[in-house]
Amino acid sequence: MKWLSNKYAYLLVALVVLASVALQAAWLMQLFRAQQVQVKRDLDQAVSSAARMNDYLSIAKGQEKSENFRNFFLSKEWLQLKQAFTGMRAHQVNASFSSELKNDTTIIGIGLRVANTPPKPHRGRVIRNFDEGETLETAMLSDKQDLRRMDSLVKVECDRNLVAVKGHHLLYDYETGKPESQKVWKSAQDADYRSELYAYNLNFFFHNYQFVVPSIDNIVIYRMRYYLISSLIMLLLTGTAFIFLFRVIRSQQLYTQARLAFTGNMTHELKTPVAVIEAALDAIKRYQLAQDPGKLYNYIDISKTELQRLNLMINKVLNLDQLDDGEIKLRPELYDVQQGLEGVVSSMQLQNGLNGTKINLVQAGEPCFVDGDPVHLTNVFYNLIDNALKYCPAGSTITISCDCDADNVQISFSDNGPGIAKMYKERIFDRFFRVPESAELHNVKGSGLGLHYVKQIIERHGGRIRVQSEPGKGSNFIIDLPGYHEV
Ligand code: ADP
Repeated sequence: MKWLSNKYAYLLVALVVLASVALQAAWLMQLFRAQQVQVKRDLDQAVSSAARMNDYLSIAKGQEKSENFRNFFLSKEWLQLKQAFTGMRAHQVNASFSSELKNDTTIIGIGLRVANTPPKPHRGRVIRNFDEGETLETAMLSDKQDLRRMDSLVKVECDRNLVAVKGHHLLYDYETGKPESQKVWKSAQDADYRSELYAYNLNFFFHNYQFVVPSIDNIVIYRMRYYLISSLIMLLLTGTAFIFLFRVIRSQQLYTQARLAFTGNMTHELKTPVAVIEAALDAIKRYQLAQDPGKLYNYIDISKTELQRLNLMINKVLNLDQLDDGEIKLRPELYDVQQGLEGVVSSMQLQNGLNGTKINLVQAGEPCFVDGDPVHLTNVFYNLIDNALKYCPAGSTITISCDCDADNVQISFSDNGPGIAKMYKERIFDRFFRVPESAELHNVKGSGLGLHYVKQIIERHGGRIRVQSEPGKGSNFIIDLPGYHEV
């Protein structure tokens, strides 16, 4: 897949993510529209059921037990018939309605009077004779009760199938068709839902009833909740998978780069001592230094130091795989950390001199024992101090402190060198990883193996290592090891 360079791979992934977001959005929009239609249908259903039930209840007194009576007034056909009858007014038709309830029969009388000559300019009206003892006031009071019942029936029907419908009614004058309140009518024009008009009882024809829901969005969204949540989860999962993929690709890239840099660095690390030793032996032979023991010993010392460096590097590389496979066997014994630190510091002072850098060793008042492998722990201390010496400019101060209680030994190696940027703090413990070169670190050679080794050894001892650092202010490597406990 060489042809697919990273730049294009990222672009492709970005396009895939964008396309899946767009597809999900389009699909959800389509679903939203379909649900809007469905919610309106359900509202239609709820209001018409309420109107039928209200019709039935408005004249049912005494006939509640009659199944026939009930079936008729609750049938869709009756509602259609009544809607058609009341709708006739629009055609300049005079209509009359009467109902007579008897014990075994109910007589519903519907009459339509159509003028043969061109109609006079007035609207059709429904004529209903008042019952005995009934006045306009008692009729209006009774109509109000029917209206209240209609409202509560609409609510009951809505609650059955729709969640939290926030709506209200709008009344129209039955004869003129004009809304009772201009203000409510105006605001209803922008509403998401307006029902058909229903005469909500069979006793009086004062008003037509319309149910208005200003917004149905929340009902639609509630109905779509599972789709919305699953889309969100899908998008989150896709996003996480891609981020994960990016990270894997990125760390593979960095690993490959680090490996290449490692080969370059190792070539330098291995060639330098060999070249120095070759030059020293050459000088001994050419200038016959056997005659001059002072110089001879000096050259031998230089060669010995270089051989030690070479040996250390060879061991680092040879240990590499064994370390990662956990094959290195530790030989733990009672080990005094403070003594170990003292030993490493004085041998480093002897070997290299410290190039003007001051090492400050802060000891605890008592010995700090761990169950540790002296060879590996000494190497760990050596690596950390060597790094501080390598990366800090001449004349810096390195503070090594050791503290312990019954369960834990804490050792810290703090310097006032260049520090480590936040993004590299975890990665410096990866094998081969070296912080990309900056002006200050430019000439410092290394393998990128030291801290990896340190971390592995500390973890094999049941401890942990972390770094606190701020670029420009220095670094502090802190090791925690379990204290020694006799078994
Ligand atoms: P190296 O052989 O490069 O020193 P290490 O594994 O020991 O490899 O260190 C990894 C990287 O961590 C180094 O390349 C260096 O950039 C950074 N580093 C380690 N110790 C220090 C320190 N004391 N101060 C600043 N940077 C450090």
